[in-house]
Amino acid sequence: MIPAGTLPQQPWMTAPALRAVMAALAAKGGTARFVGGCVRNALLGRAVKEVDIACADPPTTVIELLTAASIKAIPTGIEHGTVTVVAHGTPFEITTLRRDVETMGRKAVVAFTDDWAADAARRDFTMNAIYCDADGTLYDPADGLADARAGRVRFVGEPGERIQEDYLRILRFFRIYAHYGHPPADVAALRACRQHTKGLTILSVERVAHELLRLLAASDPATVLTLMTEYEVLQHVLPEATDIDRLRALVRIDGPDPLPLRRLAAVLGLDVAKAERVATRLKLSSRERVRLVGAASGAFGHEPDAATVRNNLYLYGAEAFTDQAYLRWAESGGRPTDTLFATLIERARTYLRPVFPLTGDDVLALGIERGPRVGELLSLVERWWMEGGFAAGRDACLAKLTERAER
Ligand code: ATP
Ligand code: MG
Repeated sequence: MIPAGTLPQQPWMTAPALRAVMAALAAKGGTARFVGGCVRNALLGRAVKEVDIACADPPTTVIELLTAASIKAIPTGIEHGTVTVVAHGTPFEITTLRRDVETMGRKAVVAFTDDWAADAARRDFTMNAIYCDADGTLYDPADGLADARAGRVRFVGEPGERIQEDYLRILRFFRIYAHYGHPPADVAALRACRQHTKGLTILSVERVAHELLRLLAASDPATVLTLMTEYEVLQHVLPEATDIDRLRALVRIDGPDPLPLRRLAAVLGLDVAKAERVATRLKLSSRERVRLVGAASGAFGHEPDAATVRNNLYLYGAEAFTDQAYLRWAESGGRPTDTLFATLIERARTYLRPVFPLTGDDVLALGIERGPRVGELLSLVERWWMEGGFAAGRDACLAKLTERAER
């Protein structure tokens, strides 16, 4: 294959761990090249988080070559040609070149090959099918270099065919476009996405959720969600998204490290029941669920008084309170100069949660039997303590508890 240019050496390429892996794979004359996100990101000056390696040798040979170099190989997906190595604490995936034998809308039967162009032809987008040698020489069988530089997210081959092979590519298209695309988006791709939305139903909700959350981390997700609505995709994967304008406002203020779950909460509107429904439907983890629902909770007005702020911080915790403040800020227009919300967020950042001075043991010590009444009494006194601005100490709380218990 003819070289298509060079990628200046990058720190991740010259890291000793990766060098050792590349040297091991080339030891008997075989060819291994970087591919996918690492090459695309390096070309675009973006951070490289994971390095994928494509290799012309079959996986059994890959394992032999690595073992000969004393590098531990883990056959993570050997039937698909993938071997994972952990070198110096960093994992790398090495995948043998493949071509599709049969596709089924998501899973495919593949055959190993030593044909780089065939491997490129089964990748999704041209900018994801650029290969790079250990020394930085680039190979571009799908003409992805120019597309990457111009922000053109283009399917390798005919979009409709490629989508029918794997419907996840519809969501990957919008996600990759959100992160690496420049408008206008490729119309042939958009039309093909619209034509094949039915196929989205075969995807697992976990996959869909993963793609959506990654898309939401992009710099302008609201515009892409609008595009997805226009092409009838969003209705199939997130019909609960009713508030794209609030998301747009949030993105203006939510800073350099945007949180996808907060953004998801924004697009759902401030509706606790809906947040719970979406968390269930998308099978979010319990941590994610708490975050999403917490963000939608804690109704407070545009100018919350000191007690509301204090109580919400205590009840929901600093993290959820911060999300709530951001969402209110977005709701009230998302003006970066609005100091009220910035102050609330700063307050949450340095918040130390007061500790309620009583426990269940204090209730039992009064001779009350174990059972629901213990919790009820504790909550009553805790409420009273909150309403008093968290000022009462242990003795005052005990006195209050005794008084309530005797009623
Ligand atoms: P990132 O890791 O930043 O999400 P990536 O491009 O590396 O981006 P991966 O999911 O890690 O994405 O996939 C690695 C490469 O595998 C892609 O660049 C692409 O070439 C190929 N690929 C991944 N998923 C598909 C798919 N569904 N259809 C075709 N090719 C795919
Ligand atoms: Mg990747």
